[in-house]
Amino acid sequence: MKLLVKAPAKINLSLDVLHKRDDGYHELEMIMTTVDLADRLELALRNDDRITVYSQSRFVPDDERNLAYKAAKVLKDRLGIPKGVEITIEKNIPVAAGLAGGSSDAAAVLRGLNKLWGLGLTLDQLATIGAEIGSDVSFCVYGGTALAKGRGEIITPLPAPPNCWVVLAKPPIGVSTAEVYENLQLHNVVHPNSKAMVEAIEQNDYFGMCQNLGNVLESVTLNHYPEVKSIKNDMKRFGADAVLMSGSGPTVFALVQHDSRMQRLYNGLRGYCNQVYAVRMLGKRNEQ
Ligand code: ATP
Repeated sequence: MKLLVKAPAKINLSLDVLHKRDDGYHELEMIMTTVDLADRLELALRNDDRITVYSQSRFVPDDERNLAYKAAKVLKDRLGIPKGVEITIEKNIPVAAGLAGGSSDAAAVLRGLNKLWGLGLTLDQLATIGAEIGSDVSFCVYGGTALAKGRGEIITPLPAPPNCWVVLAKPPIGVSTAEVYENLQLHNVVHPNSKAMVEAIEQNDYFGMCQNLGNVLESVTLNHYPEVKSIKNDMKRFGADAVLMSGSGPTVFALVQHDSRMQRLYNGLRGYCNQVYAVRMLGKRNEQ
């Protein structure tokens, strides 16, 4: 028996770090949305009880370090499942890019195995298990658009954002999320207005959404990687309505409404950056 599951990337429309907690984690306030750029996972039932993982990408480990493997293992151990699975990942989301590719693969495994192994868990239960694997996994279990608090695991759903194009560009560098957080100086950042962003989304206000894009991690990454800053500047020059770095970067995205502007941005960036994508936001949450 086999199952195909899609694992979409996410972008941060806003990312705020409120403070560092006593347990060492940062208290976050993020508004995230899934976009139509997805890994595809095939989950096949094995004859034995082993978990195996394979992906064609040289940037992703084919062993127990893979977040997709970890998701299957946590589910299997937690519920005492005597079954195995062969996970094959078609990796389309750039790796270590600020797009939560690994977290989304893990969430897709949780949702897929819930069906393949016949577990009957709710999305809420899967999201709780997902929080153990990584901070963004809970959000990825639900997909759609949401406000995420705590470490990222306290999720409040939001309506679909105003319709527009998202043009993503990833410069050819990988950014370590841990390093970005280490270099973050909270007394020295401009905090985004998450409340205003929630209101813009709720009122389907495209320009309100554009005005309130914000990411406290952006200045840290921009200082260390000038190429990220120059892509941001080029996006503005090519006619973007608004531009922001996603997560800890280095992927930067631009918002535009019209097809002609999207084409101009896409073609302009493709001139020198080979990972460029023009996608829509996926408004809909996963149902199961
Ligand atoms: P986030 O936005 O959640 O910080 P990211 O997009 O920056 O995540 P990922 O693409 O998830 O980063 O990859 C981060 C690290 O996780 C990489 O070093 C990669 O080798 C490892 N990893 C483990 N499993 C996966 C997977 N299934 N897909 C991608 N990366 C994975």
